[in-house]
Amino acid sequence: MTLARGGPDSGDFLERVRFFFEHRLPHRPDYEQRPEQLQMALAVAQALQGEELLVVEAGTGTGKSLAYLIPSLLWAFDRRQPVVISTRTLNLQQQLLEKDIPLLRELMDQPFRATPARGWSNYVCLRRLESVQNSQQATPELSHEATSLAENLSLGAPGVRQQLQVSDPLWTVIQAESAACNRQLCPYFQDCYLFRERREMERSELIIANHSLVMADLALRRDGAPGILPRPECWILDEGHHLEEVANEHLGRSLSLADLNRLRQSVYEPKGKVNDAGWLPTLRDRLAKAPVPSDSRARMLELLDRGLLTSLPTFYQVGEEFFHWLAQAILALGVEGRIPINSDFFYTPEGSQCRQVSEQWAAHLSSLEGSVRSLHQAVTENELEATQGGLAELQSLMDRLKGLRNDLEFCLFPDSQDWVYWAQNSAHDTQLGATPLDVGEHLASDFFGPARSVVVTSATLAVGKDLSYFEQRVGLDQHTHRIQRACLDSPFDFMQSAYLGVATDLPDPNKNGFWTQSREALSWLVQQLQGRTFLLTTSHASLRLAKEALQAPLAQAGIRLLAQGQAPAGMLLDQFRRDSRALLIGADSFWEGVDVPGDDLSCVILTRLPFRVPNDPLVKAHCRRLEEEGLNSFANYQMPQAILKFRQGFGRLIRTQRDRGLVLVLDSRLYHKSYGSDFMGALPRCQRRAGRLAGLVQDAMKWLRKE
Ligand code: SF4
Repeated sequence: MTLARGGPDSGDFLERVRFFFEHRLPHRPDYEQRPEQLQMALAVAQALQGEELLVVEAGTGTGKSLAYLIPSLLWAFDRRQPVVISTRTLNLQQQLLEKDIPLLRELMDQPFRATPARGWSNYVCLRRLESVQNSQQATPELSHEATSLAENLSLGAPGVRQQLQVSDPLWTVIQAESAACNRQLCPYFQDCYLFRERREMERSELIIANHSLVMADLALRRDGAPGILPRPECWILDEGHHLEEVANEHLGRSLSLADLNRLRQSVYEPKGKVNDAGWLPTLRDRLAKAPVPSDSRARMLELLDRGLLTSLPTFYQVGEEFFHWLAQAILALGVEGRIPINSDFFYTPEGSQCRQVSEQWAAHLSSLEGSVRSLHQAVTENELEATQGGLAELQSLMDRLKGLRNDLEFCLFPDSQDWVYWAQNSAHDTQLGATPLDVGEHLASDFFGPARSVVVTSATLAVGKDLSYFEQRVGLDQHTHRIQRACLDSPFDFMQSAYLGVATDLPDPNKNGFWTQSREALSWLVQQLQGRTFLLTTSHASLRLAKEALQAPLAQAGIRLLAQGQAPAGMLLDQFRRDSRALLIGADSFWEGVDVPGDDLSCVILTRLPFRVPNDPLVKAHCRRLEEEGLNSFANYQMPQAILKFRQGFGRLIRTQRDRGLVLVLDSRLYHKSYGSDFMGALPRCQRRAGRLAGLVQDAMKWLRKE
């Protein structure tokens, strides 16, 4: 039996967890005892105590939040060390804070702290806010907004973006930023919202974070910078199937036109004599009045004027030109979305323009870095700006310019086998980037390796009860000696609650003729159901086609059509829940993390098997690598990934014990192709039918009405 370092012995701790589930929770009137929940809680307790890595798939309805929260909290009491609970979606983070944590408070004998963890950019920086208020350079609108925000904050408003009404331009210049923070030297340090929450976090038993923050913390520490979280030992990662994707975002490198614009808005944006924006003109005002010998003052102003204020506009202009040619080079290829690139990309006519401009831009970046360094040195020598933040802002600018130059130089030479290089152009942004091909290696060495215990859980991690695909993707396969695994079925009775119909007679949903052939039957079904349906597509193009096909017939029947893109996802969902007669058409993000329990959602239509776009740079690179290793990329990568997503889509339907409804799959490959049985085998046992769509929808309605 493993003994915890300084903790209770295994028997005690596991027994206390068991006691909670068997004797405390059952006293609650709304509590349903579920063996799977207790099983999971004991596995989590064992992982925390035994310094293990636990991968646990827990089907919908297991009650996994309590199954990890209770052992984590008991463990944190014993160890006097916080446990980090991380989720992917804001929804689940909110649910933990607003529903599960208050429930835990009622259940526990002793008080505890559970603190939300957020990234720097979520907090207002009081020093920057004050600087905007007092700046001669800020526009009257910005000054006015800053003043009224400061008044709200003084009346007790929280200093967190999600809970404040702040315009984007103001937030860009007042958000907290690690590199620009002068910490203990800052006059606002004691009142600073961010540091108050950080101090609270250190005294907490539970830290409620999200995967983006956990990965950003990892990336910062890896680069030698101070992290965001207080170096916890134990982690619970819920919605763990997102780990690879989030790690890709944070452990990769990229530069974008939007980043350049943000830099311009926060540092210096010439807008005419009076209204120049950014902190640099404000710094100039302060240096002009600094109580130092006139020759020192003149030197600092000269460095600032000549080295920065005069050079920055040219730097922006060359940067814009770089992104212009990058966009042209992407457009010339005639492919939409994120495209893979290699060195050939920079030898096309547009690509070579892009490379030429990049050389000029890199030279500007080096020269600007030098100017900022000289100014920083001069300001330090004159013992100025340490408390007012000017030095920290200069340091932050130096870091940003250096980071940008490094990323530019790295992405312009797309020749490492270990990275996937890509470029993307859209109406909103143009980007160039690189993602590590094997993010699992980084996670294995920098995250799972140093952690005492990690629990990764989700309703969908396994492909046919096999967790090896997931483990290999995130690097857990490099720690097999520490891994424990569990696959816990959902306690729901899917034979009674779910009908799965597979249409066998439809062409590919992206082809002409699909909607002509299916429109009538689907409109009929949605009308019979009085809305209450999700229709999930796998691309925005097919979302548009679905909308065009169904809009008119449903409007005639008084059924509202809501489509992803017409409003933010959360708002659309609220409308769907409020409006009982609605069809919601969603693409990628609606396949998971969306919870509509009860009769409000009675049918989920999946138009296509959710294989990833084969042109996606990461998909292409992974497939190529597998083929080079002699493995079949379809069987070892594309299919397991699609099965996991398919299970997510199916999982939207039955959210509680009492739910009952239909899932229709319109992709006949599920019936005709041999791999269809792998998809079907990954779903829980339920009522299953296959046939022509027209007959299938009628049969489905009869089943639903119990005729
Ligand atoms: S401590 Fe840092 S983040 Fe907080 S107000 Fe001061 S500079 Fe801003």
